[in-house]
Amino acid sequence: MKVLVVGSGGREHALLWKAAQSPLVDRLYAAPGNAGMAPLAELVPWNGDVEALADWALGEGIDLTLVGPEAPLVEGIADAFQKRGLLIFGPTQKAAMIEGSKAFAKGLMERYGIPTARYRVFQDPILALEYLEEVGVPIVIKDSGLAAGKGVTVAFDLHTAKQAVSNLLSGPEGGEVVMEEYLEGEEATVLALTDGETILPLLPSQDHKRLLDGDQGPMTGGMGAVAPYPMDAAIFRRVEEEILKPLIQGLRAEGVVYRGVVYAGLMLTREGPKVLEFNARFGDPEAQALLPLLQSDLVELALRVAEGRLKGAELSWREGASACVVLAAPGYPENPRKGIPLHVPEPPEGVLVFHAGTRLEGGVLWSQGGRVLNVVGLGQDLKEALERAYAFIPRVGFPGAQYRKDIGLRALKRG
Ligand code: ATP
Repeated sequence: MKVLVVGSGGREHALLWKAAQSPLVDRLYAAPGNAGMAPLAELVPWNGDVEALADWALGEGIDLTLVGPEAPLVEGIADAFQKRGLLIFGPTQKAAMIEGSKAFAKGLMERYGIPTARYRVFQDPILALEYLEEVGVPIVIKDSGLAAGKGVTVAFDLHTAKQAVSNLLSGPEGGEVVMEEYLEGEEATVLALTDGETILPLLPSQDHKRLLDGDQGPMTGGMGAVAPYPMDAAIFRRVEEEILKPLIQGLRAEGVVYRGVVYAGLMLTREGPKVLEFNARFGDPEAQALLPLLQSDLVELALRVAEGRLKGAELSWREGASACVVLAAPGYPENPRKGIPLHVPEPPEGVLVFHAGTRLEGGVLWSQGGRVLNVVGLGQDLKEALERAYAFIPRVGFPGAQYRKDIGLRALKRG
């Protein structure tokens, strides 16, 4: 089979690395890919036009396409491929609205009784500010549309809250904000494969969204992840029954068949798990931590999802745990410096390196994005996985590299 992976980050490198292990695969392509993906796949230049990529895939005879990032899903890449009779792992534009519009996702959760923070949606800045005066802080203010993980403000004072509302609603084009109740608890992620009927949850994981240790500093796309997150079995079942099932069945009831991977970002509150957000794809960096633990054939699973044949499929996982530590460029997330020369030696047994913002030029590897490299450690347990990842980092670090030193510490304490 010819398999295409869409995207250019660490998540896509992990997807490609995993796909490369499938006996079903003869040839791999990545659009646009990154330097780390080049040894595994033919890199296809791509400017983000989903129709053009679908035309290319048809011409090339691509048998299956796996989509990493949200932007092309929200643009309708799955629809473009399906229109041409091509198999694709990823939800259609309508289904991807669970991520593309937080207002839509909240409405869906309300209609199907999925536990989540109480909320209101506003387009008018005056009404939004009035509401803010009425309910006060703490409050969470979210850009309803895609914002690459940077559209959320958790405000503990009115000034910050008002600023966030003004920033999001006062532009010439207007906007939409979701304002929601502040939830307290531990955060965790549960991903699931689904063909719109069968739902196959993956191991729980935990991301680290803030830039600095101790969950300080600005929000980022994600600075590290661990898997499995030690979630109680009873809570995990509640996530399946109270969140994933009603989501997929609710979408179906509204005429939307969701095929791909669904991401539930959760707050484990005292009353039980509540949804912070849904995403329409694998998490980055959760994918880098999870995929190395998956023993099952990802390509076979993705085919079954795309063809609506997931029923009866099972997942097998290797024993132990995994930890991914992200190395980000100096200046990330506001203004990452690009063009830093990198040196990535061959990692030892039990360590993997997935590239994110890297490019090869003149035989030299250069940084070219905010998140640059992902170091993944695998071990018998989380402690060993973390030790392996952190032991390798000094060998791949680059001048000014930012990374968190406390990835996995919260999960270690719980486990
Ligand atoms: P974007 O849409 O910009 O990509 P995102 O999808 O990552 O952002 P969320 O996951 O909704 O946005 O929020 C980001 C972070 O903000 C969460 O991981 C959590 O730490 C915090 N957060 C979001 N909602 C709440 C809430 N209701 N209560 C407390 N914290 C919250």
